[in-house]
Amino acid sequence: MALFTCREVPDVASDYISREGSKRTRLMVAIHLAQCSNCRTYIRGLKIARSIAAESLRGSVPTALLQNLGLNTPDRGGSFKEPNE
Ligand SMILES: [Zn+2]
Repeated sequence: MALFTCREVPDVASDYISREGSKRTRLMVAIHLAQCSNCRTYIRGLKIARSIAAESLRGSVPTALLQNLGLNTPDRGGSFKEPNE
């Protein structure tokens, strides 16, 4: 069974974290991490970075951007005007 090397871990790290990789890939990463504190630290840092990114998407971007995308309809109480009115 060919385990990942440290050089290969970054290539599969996002699959591992997001759980999008195959079961086998994730298992291989997990086995490597069990043996390698360097890569554990790397993965931990990556997870933190991802959670911060996710937080910022949930938090600071929202309303205005969602409205621009038409995903969030505020009350149509009146500021909206037809272009050629
Ligand atoms: Zn490693």
